[in-house]
Amino acid sequence: MNIIMLGAPGAGKGTIASQMKEKYNLPHISSGDIFRANIKENTELGKLAKSYIDKGTLVPDDVTINMMVDRLCKDDCKNGFILDGFPRTIVQADGLNEALNKSNTKIDLAILVEGDDDQIAERLSGRRVCEKCGATYHIVSMPPKVDGVCDKCGATLIHRKDDTADVIKDRLKTYHEQTKPLIDYYNEKGILKTISGFIKSKEEMIDAIDKIISFGN
Ligand code: AMP
Repeated sequence: MNIIMLGAPGAGKGTIASQMKEKYNLPHISSGDIFRANIKENTELGKLAKSYIDKGTLVPDDVTINMMVDRLCKDDCKNGFILDGFPRTIVQADGLNEALNKSNTKIDLAILVEGDDDQIAERLSGRRVCEKCGATYHIVSMPPKVDGVCDKCGATLIHRKDDTADVIKDRLKTYHEQTKPLIDYYNEKGILKTISGFIKSKEEMIDAIDKIISFGN
């Protein structure tokens, strides 16, 4: 099954996608993670992406579409995928459709992860991310056992530069202006399902995901 995760940055798309990855054995492909890996490796793509990411704006559509279509051609996507953070504009959604059409496939399900801006801003400003394995924590609601150290792999936790108050404001503005229209876009295709990004227990989250996935089958 080909799935996309929609929702504001920090709404919880990544957490839900990781649960689904485990349960349904599908690759979890995050456009933000691919950009950050390129920034770390100092590639040309990374240098370009950084200038947008630091401001809380979107990397240009053509660059993003090419990067993601390349990723979707890899073998691990043959039986489906979970896209997290892509598409983020109507142009990207059209680009994705066009690429999938060529290989006679399509998006089966769009999952909208909901949350309000204040909750999201609070979540993002307290978020800490493992620089090695990508695990996420929150300084108040989900702190690591040892301050600043990842429970899973022992690497250092970082506060992403774009998880600071000013950039968060710009990221949310970008979301409302450019990404939110995708809700109607996928609703009109009849494949949109909604889930709260603020479900507390893992069991409840898995239950909510199961209900949604049975719809897509
Ligand atoms: P994320 O980790 O998904 O919140 O993404 C971090 C940043 O990467 C965003 O604020 C954008 O600058 C950039 N980015 C991620 N995905 C996309 C996309 N689909 N289109 C354009 N820019 C993106």
